Amino acid sequence: MTAQVIDGKAFAARVREQVAAHVARLREENGIQPGLAVVLVGEDPASQVYVRNKGTQTHDAGMASFEHKLPADTSETDLLALVRALNADPAVHGILVQLPLPKHLNAELIINTIDPAKDVDGFHISNVGLLGTGQKSMVPCTPLGCLMMLRDHHGSLAGMNAVVVGRSNIVGKPMAQLLLGDSCTVTIAHSRTRDLAAVCRGADILVAAVGRAEMITGDMVKPGATVIDVGINRIERDGKIRLVGDVDYASAAAVAGAITPVPGGVGPMTIACLLANTLTACCRANGLPEPEGLTA
Ligand code: NDP
Repeated sequence: MTAQVIDGKAFAARVREQVAAHVARLREENGIQPGLAVVLVGEDPASQVYVRNKGTQTHDAGMASFEHKLPADTSETDLLALVRALNADPAVHGILVQLPLPKHLNAELIINTIDPAKDVDGFHISNVGLLGTGQKSMVPCTPLGCLMMLRDHHGSLAGMNAVVVGRSNIVGKPMAQLLLGDSCTVTIAHSRTRDLAAVCRGADILVAAVGRAEMITGDMVKPGATVIDVGINRIERDGKIRLVGDVDYASAAAVAGAITPVPGGVGPMTIACLLANTLTACCRANGLPEPEGLTA
């Protein structure tokens, strides 16, 4: 079997179009423009690229983009003051503080100071609790993107066996909660899991969020399963730096029914879902109906 490729790049483009169309209607019919504020502290090169991409895509979707670039030695007091000012600003519907933060800043304190209704990354402890109890929340962008692709591919996920490899707060745990919310039977695997290969082979849906290049190989995949590869790893091969996932694509694609590639799978969905979350936050703030198909 050769797996069907789930094209995240094309899917993300469709999500962005949907968001842009909804934003255009909001502006025309309600005179409201959703706004996203992104806060970057320091000069981490990868973070700078992410923030630039987010700004461009926010503009392209017709939203207002507010970028706050602060020096690496910004004090916690100053950063908290900025977050509080953004919380109070009615033109800002979504706030994202780019992680990782410099070590002298308490990331948990800063994230938990964001107004949960504006927490478009879904990392505020209130949103974590709401998601865990099946209530309306802001959902972390990467797992939301994975869920959207799975729903698009399968329709209903009810009753499927899902295995999530990785238990981080930003990917693994919220991914598992979302799959549970869609009535999958969910297993979370991690570095202490016994016989990981056997656990993975039980999965109709296998999500890899490990951070280890090409660790999930074809012999760990159930024939016909859907494989979602969240991993982004830079490795050197044949003298070149290459981007690979946590799944060994060639061997897994020979067994799976469907698979996301790296690059071009989960990655592009993350920013698309950030835009979707900002739109959702704006609709909720204004008591308007939420965009269909763009929330959990
Ligand atoms: P973390 O390092 O926070 O978590 C990794 C998880 O994998 C941990 O729970 C760890 O288990 C588990 N793990 C590590 N080694 C093994 C092993 N040998 N067997 C089984 N489980 C193992 O990573 P993140 O969740 O932040 O990210 C995961 C991957 O997703 C990374 O490649 C990252 O770059 C990528 N990513 C991609 C995004 C995108 O937009 N596409 C967004 C965010 C992340 P334990 O808890 O026991 O240590």
